[in-house]
Amino acid sequence: MQDRHGRNIHYLRISVTDRCNLRCIYCMSEKGVRLLKHEDILSFEEIASFTRIAVANGIDKVRITGGEPLIRKNIPYLIRLLSGIRGIKDLSLTTNGILLEEFAMPLKDSGLQRVNISLDTTDPKKYAYITRGGDYYKVMKGIDAAEKAGLLPIKINCVVKKSSHEPDAVGVKVFCESRKLIVRFIHEMNLETGEYSVVEGGTGGNCRLCNKLRLSSDGELRPCLFSDLSFNIRRLGAESAIRMAVESKPEFGTRSLLTGFSMIGG
Ligand code: SF4
Repeated sequence: MQDRHGRNIHYLRISVTDRCNLRCIYCMSEKGVRLLKHEDILSFEEIASFTRIAVANGIDKVRITGGEPLIRKNIPYLIRLLSGIRGIKDLSLTTNGILLEEFAMPLKDSGLQRVNISLDTTDPKKYAYITRGGDYYKVMKGIDAAEKAGLLPIKINCVVKKSSHEPDAVGVKVFCESRKLIVRFIHEMNLETGEYSVVEGGTGGNCRLCNKLRLSSDGELRPCLFSDLSFNIRRLGAESAIRMAVESKPEFGTRSLLTGFSMIGG
């Protein structure tokens, strides 16, 4: 699908939950977010049927995000539904890694190809501070399990304040080199003020090359992270929502006041 700016839109990011088992200081407040009602959350069947239509319209890359997707009950079943859709060339998932040791093999067996894992420091104490209580060693076991299951290549998402030369980022870079993992540095973003920059080691944030649509867990299809434009797939139907989202995709992001990162998975 081509948007009005000549960009090929073929990448769908699907947030399957607004819930998370961590409270990262740059993502949500300590008390968390006002959670969506259960009936507002798309079922796996709704997500799969929407994705089938999106693939028929040109989507070939799908990423599962959250909140934290592994806390959504029976997530391997959704992966199995999606991996059965002909035309998806790249099926991946972004996780904080806390539950990955348990899910790596079932996800692989269900057809998941690869994972991105969040890791902002290699200092366990600092990790507990940034995530407000997360267990660093669980993430390490998650990385081992993903490697063993063959969810490759593993990419590490490292959030930095200003630059990848910050001490924690350098530590993560050295760790990734020692484990032959791919590292990407994501500069802290601010939806309200519209602060964002290009991901180091990726294309995220480069509006000229943007190829994305985002589906929130309550069925809002969003053409841009830094915009409040959204189209409800339950109300409009998949075809209309996709057409309207692609037609209204802004040339570049401005800001978003109506949602938070945990709702849309960055
Ligand atoms: S700000 Fe919007 S247009 Fe720019 S890269 Fe992000 S999603 Fe794409």
